[in-house]
Amino acid sequence: MDNFLTSTLKQHAPLISSGTIGAINWHWLDHGVMVIEPIGVEVSHLDHVLLSAGIHGNETAPIELLDQLMDDLLNGRLPLNVKLMLMLGNLEAMRNGERYNDIDLNRLFSQHHQNYPICAETLRAQQLEALTAQFFESAAGRKLHFDLHTAIRESHHVRFALLPYKENEKYSRQMCDWLSSAEVEAIVLNQAPSATFSYYSSEHCGADSCTLELGKAKPFGQNDLSQFAGINNGLRQLVSQGLPQSPPTNVTLKVYQVSQQLTKLSENFEMHFSDEVKNFTAFEQGEVLAIDGDITYRVEQPREWVLFPNPNVRPGLRAGLMLVETEQDAIF
Ligand SMILES: [Zn+2]
Repeated sequence: MDNFLTSTLKQHAPLISSGTIGAINWHWLDHGVMVIEPIGVEVSHLDHVLLSAGIHGNETAPIELLDQLMDDLLNGRLPLNVKLMLMLGNLEAMRNGERYNDIDLNRLFSQHHQNYPICAETLRAQQLEALTAQFFESAAGRKLHFDLHTAIRESHHVRFALLPYKENEKYSRQMCDWLSSAEVEAIVLNQAPSATFSYYSSEHCGADSCTLELGKAKPFGQNDLSQFAGINNGLRQLVSQGLPQSPPTNVTLKVYQVSQQLTKLSENFEMHFSDEVKNFTAFEQGEVLAIDGDITYRVEQPREWVLFPNPNVRPGLRAGLMLVETEQDAIF
């Protein structure tokens, strides 16, 4: 079998769709989607782990990490002790080196694809939803989904996780311990349902999920994968040993929640800070953040941190989020 990423980029389907290599059964489900499981164990009781990348096609480093992971598992260089699905998301965009072609794939999950004219991306969202639901359906063990991304903007926290909105606001401590051990520095709690892949797998499949932002990426083959060493080690440990049994020592995972959203209401919207500002830059109470006609957005809490500022969106859309820090223990 050709290497996973190469065959996906070339649009090559294998001649047979499943088989055995060493101690592993593999199933090719579609372009960019494979499931592998160890032989000789009751698979339904294993942790079911979905690792996805390339939901944004130009976020290459995590795609390369997953490709290497698959290669090492299939070649017996790394033991497999979970049922693992690897998914590469927006294949057209990956081939073109673009974030997306027509519509951002990560805005199309949980039926949001119905709001758009049918295109390759709406069809892919539907397909990934169906394959994800099918994968987790048979799971009697823990269900985990990590959707791997890289950020566009520089960030004070180089690696951070976005946790999907949950009505009960309770998250898995073990997942957060694993994030810490993988050198993720901060988590941000989403305050509302969304159209992202990780919200879909959390809400509709009952998985412990998150979107991981892992630093900046370059075109295929030009990434310095050593920058991603923490997450790489974490993923390898996860697939071969499962989640950590005890919390890592000497790490403090910061936890943020949204305090306010900066919504662009009109073309008059103006940010009051530089375009170069990094994610997680702090602002003090009373500082003006943006002005939009008669409306002035100010820092309301003693201190707030900015995330994903982007004044260039269409009116009606989110131009940035403001965060406050919260206690980690409050979310378990
Ligand atoms: Zn992304």
